[in-house]
Amino acid sequence: MRLIDLSLEIAPNNSEPVPVEIEYISHEEGADILGKPININHEQFPDGMGLSLEHIKLTTHTGTHIDAPLHYGPLCEGKEAKNISELPLNWFFQNGVVLNCHDDTNRGAITQTELQKKLEEIGYQIQPLDIVLLNTGADKWWGKAEYFTHFRGVTKEATAWLVEQGVKIIGIDSFGFDPPFHEMLKNYKDTQNISSLWPAHFYGREKEYCQIERLANLSLIPKSFGFKVCCFPIKIQKCGASWSRVVAIIED
Ligand SMILES: [Zn+2]
Repeated sequence: MRLIDLSLEIAPNNSEPVPVEIEYISHEEGADILGKPININHEQFPDGMGLSLEHIKLTTHTGTHIDAPLHYGPLCEGKEAKNISELPLNWFFQNGVVLNCHDDTNRGAITQTELQKKLEEIGYQIQPLDIVLLNTGADKWWGKAEYFTHFRGVTKEATAWLVEQGVKIIGIDSFGFDPPFHEMLKNYKDTQNISSLWPAHFYGREKEYCQIERLANLSLIPKSFGFKVCCFPIKIQKCGASWSRVVAIIED
């Protein structure tokens, strides 16, 4: 069995719009904190050290993460939208399919036709609950300013087409699941067409589905299907998203 890490490392780098803050509490400081109730300090601890600790400040959309229906709106399918803790666990451990989509950003968002063509090429038909991973190569910009702007996103139609076949989790290796923010905003400004604004995300108000944003290493998966994906989200109360250590499991 081979395990392939499909996650980015959460780090204070240039690809995070909201800066990640990590405060490292050293083993020495940790000892002082632990010893405080009985007035001892690190000097009394083995090797002068206690236990380390970190305080972190980040958003639920930092690094590789999963968007829950609640992120898209308060209602989904006419009912209260589920938050990240309320989603069925079985959605997050299923058969995976990876589709190699072109990295040419001039092509715009990934369409239904493109997905159908890719599936035909690999000879696979989507099954309910498959975790569909879209490899656009956008993770090569991780750590650089281009990460925010050089990606394609997925159209509402392509998203709906997958969800209608029973897919609950669609992952992509780019900053966002919809096209770059500046493109959608410019489009709206030019056309006043409300459907230019976060169309795939807002489709999640109509039908329940999750998206994984900011995947990495999708090209390391050695086959297009016939592997498992494990992407359990961290359980946080009433949140619309949460981080996940996404892993592809390849049985030899
Ligand atoms: Zn997100």
